[in-house]
Amino acid sequence: MKAVDGVQSEISTGDSSGSDVPVEAIRKDSEIFLQEVFGYESFREPQQEVIERVVSGKNALVLMPTGGGKSLCYQIPGLIRPGLTIVVTPTISLMQDQVDALTQAGVAAAALNSSMDPADRKRVWARLHSGEIKILYLAPERLLLDGFLDQLASFKPGLFAIDEAHCISQWGHDFRAEYQQLGALRRHYPMIPVIGLTATADPQTLKDILKVLDMSTEDLYSTSMNRSNLRYLVEPKDQPRKQLLKFIRDRHAGEAGIVYCGSRKKVEDTSTWLRKEGIRAVPYHAGMASSERTMNQQLFQREEGIVVVATVAFGMGIDKPNVRFVAHLDMPESPQHYSQESGRAGRDGLPAECWLCYGWQDVMMAQRRLAEAEIDPAQKRIRRHQIDAMLAYCETSECRRLNLLRFFGEEGEPCSETDQVCDNCSGKIELVDGTILAQKLLSAISKTGQRFGKAHVIDVLLGNATEKVTRFGHDHLSVYGIGTELDEAGWHSVFRQLASRGLVRIDLEGHNGISLDARCRSVLRGEEVFTFRKDPLAKKSSRKRKKKKELGLDAMEASLFDRLRKHRLQISKELEVPPYTVFHDSTLVEMSQLKPQTMSQMAMIGGVGQKKLEKWGQGFLDIITS
Ligand code: ADP
Ligand code: ZN
Repeated sequence: MKAVDGVQSEISTGDSSGSDVPVEAIRKDSEIFLQEVFGYESFREPQQEVIERVVSGKNALVLMPTGGGKSLCYQIPGLIRPGLTIVVTPTISLMQDQVDALTQAGVAAAALNSSMDPADRKRVWARLHSGEIKILYLAPERLLLDGFLDQLASFKPGLFAIDEAHCISQWGHDFRAEYQQLGALRRHYPMIPVIGLTATADPQTLKDILKVLDMSTEDLYSTSMNRSNLRYLVEPKDQPRKQLLKFIRDRHAGEAGIVYCGSRKKVEDTSTWLRKEGIRAVPYHAGMASSERTMNQQLFQREEGIVVVATVAFGMGIDKPNVRFVAHLDMPESPQHYSQESGRAGRDGLPAECWLCYGWQDVMMAQRRLAEAEIDPAQKRIRRHQIDAMLAYCETSECRRLNLLRFFGEEGEPCSETDQVCDNCSGKIELVDGTILAQKLLSAISKTGQRFGKAHVIDVLLGNATEKVTRFGHDHLSVYGIGTELDEAGWHSVFRQLASRGLVRIDLEGHNGISLDARCRSVLRGEEVFTFRKDPLAKKSSRKRKKKKELGLDAMEASLFDRLRKHRLQISKELEVPPYTVFHDSTLVEMSQLKPQTMSQMAMIGGVGQKKLEKWGQGFLDIITS
């Protein structure tokens, strides 16, 4: 069997399973294939190691960022190992591209899928029977068709490659039920090596893949997901189109880029508008005629300086190396989606930018879409968690690179001098010290027993006397009502920040109960400063803030003011009189600002007469000095 014209290999024609082939021979062969078939000088990390392992008959799971060079990890073993290599891949539309590219390189490759016409399919079958084909691409549903696995035996499979292996896991962003059945391969052909490949897998997803493919952590090869040539930038949505235009004009005039939008209509509107503004923009979405889509894609690939405005339907398999920016006008569904989509920038290793514009309406929309989705509750919880993680990325004040990497289980370093420095590391972002906010939330989680969900803890902080709050007696806790300086949305934001830094944990398997991680102690003790970006907190609380501002109070004073007011309300309820007859607002404002520490200081506050001092002075003093 001759796999490739012009390449003679000692072992490519052998009949052994490959397990006793000396490593030197494999190395020599793989280098020959690399240079002569693919035309590259040397391997990248960890291609060679993976190839050696797989050729020698062992399994591997390869986690490498987009553009890292995963394909060679199965293509070269496919050429070296005897028999047929089966590549399982989820997108039919991309199969032909891969087959074409291999055919160009002189490799006998083919695809079998439901979109082919019967004559083509027949031809492929004939080539398979004649033993001519070396690498065959299939969709998972074809592989799992009745009897197909048995039928395969006659073609002597030598290797199974599972591309986009994260589709196996419910945690992955592209979960596919058929992928989960791929374990059947291992049971059917226990002696044939399997190689899984993915660019986006968090630890949970990896665990699932290993389990389904019956592999161990020994089989895992992962390189850092960090893309040091990418700069990450996030802007809160204000006038998104104008912000986008400014970003393109100021930083990427005349360069190729992708702009992702959440809907087809927005794709159309945005590309039309950009063209009017003089940008060479073309639309791309699944609702367009396929001829038009192909034309726009080719324009993007072949010409310089084209901006494609697209839904997420665009990008899989696009191998344009010099995409200088990827912009998102809507928030992606998850950090996995984001790293995959933004990862299409700068495949050539040169500086490129990933810009994202997000707004509160994105979150609402994502949540609404999720609520309406007909998926099982476990999936919903996972997706909700991913939306939260994505939002945490948007709102974080820490290094974006670090934040994104952490989602993939990597403890990286913040941007260094050799990186394209992200906006948060650039020192140009306005930060606020949120240590006290963090402490309040952590204490509320702790005092309520580390078993309630977010909404309840926030109710306690805000002093909302819900049925649940009173039922559990949480209105008697010292943390009750201490968080009125933010509104509900503001607290959700604080919460996400704590969660994204691993200080609190959500019990996703149970009832979303929140517990504290030991690491939060240093924040609770005040040994660690916790900063927030000003914008996410400020924006959502602007109404409340404004009101307090009119009173001339800063955040701390406003918080005290709220507590005093709550106390006043309690008194007025007991006495069944209007609150202002206890103390006027102006009196409470003065108390909040001057913070009297003794009864005689209290007596100096405007509106605190002798009678009122005797009756209520101590109560208010206790709140101020607590
Ligand atoms: P992935 O599937 O990991 O996103 P690909 O396999 O498509 O990446 O490879 C990305 C690009 O890098 C392709 O253009 C590929 O030809 C190229 N490439 C892969 N391995 C090497 C190598 N060892 N040397 C040079 N270029 C390589
Ligand atoms: Zn950074």
